[in-house]
Amino acid sequence: SPRAVLRLEGGSAVGSDGIRAMMESALTARDRVGVQDFVLLENHTSEVAFIENLRKRFKENLIYTYIGSVLVSVNPYKELEIYSKQHMERYRGVNFYEVSPHIYAVADNAYRSMRTERRDQCILISGESGAGKTEASKKVLQYYAITCPASEHVQTIKDRLLQSNPVLEAFGNAKTLRNDNSSRFGKYMDIQFDFKGAPVGGHIINYLLEKSRVVHQSHGERNFHIFYQLIEGGEDDLLRRLGLEKNAQQYQFLVKVRDGPHTLECPSVRKSRGGNCPKVSSINDRNDWKIVRKALSIIGFTDDEVEELLNIIASVLHLGNVQYGGEDSGSAYITTETQIKYLARLMSPLNQEQAASARDALSKAIYGRTFTWLVNKINDSLAYKDDSFNSKNASVIGLLDIYGFEVFQNNSFEQFCINYCNEKLQQLFIELTLKSEQEEYEAEGITWEPVQYFNNKIICDLVEEKFKGIISILDEECLRPGDASDITFLEKLEDTVGGHAHFLTHKLADGKTRKVMGREEFRLIHYAGEVNYNVNGFLDKNNDLLFRNLKEVMCMSENKILTQCFDREELTDKKRPETAATQFKNSLAKLMEILMSKEPSYVRCIKPNDAKQAGRFDEVLIRHQVKYLGLMENLRVRRAGFAYRRRYETFLQRYKSLCPNTWPNWDGRLVDGVSTLVKHLGYKPEEYKLGRTKIFIRFPKTLFATEDALEVR
Ligand code: ADP
Ligand code: MG
Repeated sequence: SPRAVLRLEGGSAVGSDGIRAMMESALTARDRVGVQDFVLLENHTSEVAFIENLRKRFKENLIYTYIGSVLVSVNPYKELEIYSKQHMERYRGVNFYEVSPHIYAVADNAYRSMRTERRDQCILISGESGAGKTEASKKVLQYYAITCPASEHVQTIKDRLLQSNPVLEAFGNAKTLRNDNSSRFGKYMDIQFDFKGAPVGGHIINYLLEKSRVVHQSHGERNFHIFYQLIEGGEDDLLRRLGLEKNAQQYQFLVKVRDGPHTLECPSVRKSRGGNCPKVSSINDRNDWKIVRKALSIIGFTDDEVEELLNIIASVLHLGNVQYGGEDSGSAYITTETQIKYLARLMSPLNQEQAASARDALSKAIYGRTFTWLVNKINDSLAYKDDSFNSKNASVIGLLDIYGFEVFQNNSFEQFCINYCNEKLQQLFIELTLKSEQEEYEAEGITWEPVQYFNNKIICDLVEEKFKGIISILDEECLRPGDASDITFLEKLEDTVGGHAHFLTHKLADGKTRKVMGREEFRLIHYAGEVNYNVNGFLDKNNDLLFRNLKEVMCMSENKILTQCFDREELTDKKRPETAATQFKNSLAKLMEILMSKEPSYVRCIKPNDAKQAGRFDEVLIRHQVKYLGLMENLRVRRAGFAYRRRYETFLQRYKSLCPNTWPNWDGRLVDGVSTLVKHLGYKPEEYKLGRTKIFIRFPKTLFATEDALEVR
């Protein structure tokens, strides 16, 4: 029961210190540590009350709170003693409300539903960068690895599931201003379980790696971890074979370009170089290298495969050091003494700027495709290969760790894709939450009362609709020969979707809005708020083109990984490759299908401050996230009907002592027992409803009164 937990949480925070406990008892636990479920807030429409509840709990190191079955988590930025094996045991097989809110409760609940209802599950984790999504997903995985039954084979799979994390993080994570270990890709992972409930396999799908990071990072940020790990940790022999020096400063893709003979490039190219921060205090590259190297072996990479993989990583660094000069004729020549003669041949018809951007495009393509290859390779190793086991019969728990809403000073194509993804997830959330509420009411035989909510389908359509959605229009401009540009794209948007209620540009805006919009921006009014997108670079990023002859060269490579990444068929294929946005749209559609077929649990992560500091609760920042995570709306929908619902036996067990007719035992039907009990307690008819197996209580105060009665008795 909620109050039982309140006492438990309060008690554990006070400890056994008698005097303090006496002083504290003056305050009730609810006053001090807040409510463990927002649904129980007296004033559930008040954002102030919502944030105050979060703050109270955060101060007591209670980082988890529910909204019904949704878990809200605030990043503590410090190690809490709540993830031990004993804690895992505490949450095993226990009902959601009997223990304080925890990510393990969500993991356990999903697991038990999968086992008892034979229904696939998914856990959707969202929140902005640095909010704790990836840590949460790792905790779920660890929970299953430790608490699920295992055999010898299963142990191998468990190890590989766990070890896939450091590998993917090495190649797909980087230090950013927001997070020292920021995932630069979206990730969906299926964990497959056999009929005994043991994890026997896994499968990962990756989304939209931020490959531009390979060639450019903002000041104070870094390239992907693997580059530094290799340089800092790589054994001398290895580095010699790869032709690398043990000094990150040597590599243009890792450091800021210094002035000097090597910087003959045009200014526009020069400014877009490394973030100049190879060392980060919270990161030990040398140590991480060892972890990653070992993880690669556990996953099943042979030494040769690792060498080929690292060869590619080294090549990207070498490629970054290729510099161009300009001849009088305007053609580029390679000024560095690299032996990449073909590059010279291929790139000399280009001018300096074109040559540099071709080099960058090649670097990004190589890295991006190698990353996808890596994910496939991990999937091979996670695939269950026993003939007697048909993976189609497996039960599945999916874990989604994907970028949350992004709103920066300057928002570009990437933010457009990411925020579109969040609209889709919101759409899914609405459909599934309302559906499951409705289903529960129907199953319990209680009349469904329609809930008013904002359906964001209209925004999804604006982005993705065939022929007239923003992505279609962008693709059209990318295909159009001649004068197509980012600006003509913007104009076309104005012509086509200009009248849409969720779309605006400088030209279309009225005086006040116009002042805060750039001429090269369009605004989308997302479900969570408005965002301005600068169209600069949209066409290039969407085209994501690589010169054909560079592809040819890659196909000729003797590196086995590269030949798998650059397929010859691609060269003969006359069909135009899909644009980046369309690829993303299609992969999202597939993701929605996967998620729709499963029963969802939600984890909403919140970052308490921008300084990555423990104990700091920045209210402005948090209010912003509460808004963008749609938490108030979430609470409203959850509260629209009944705040509290509990199975008859649970309810009766807890409160039967409050009524002489039900104490010490009720012999009749459960529903009659509950009915007798609540009538005795003076519940008014409008305060509750009795379903087939559960009692539904409309207001938290009714329940609190009953809890108080229990206390004074
Ligand atoms: P996201 O994936 O949302 O960008 P991360 O999961 O990488 O964020 O978390 C960022 C950092 O915050 C982690 O590296 C860790 O230092 C800290 N952190 C996140 N969750 C927790 C937690 N539950 N306990 C302690 N520290 C955490
Ligand atoms: Mg992450």
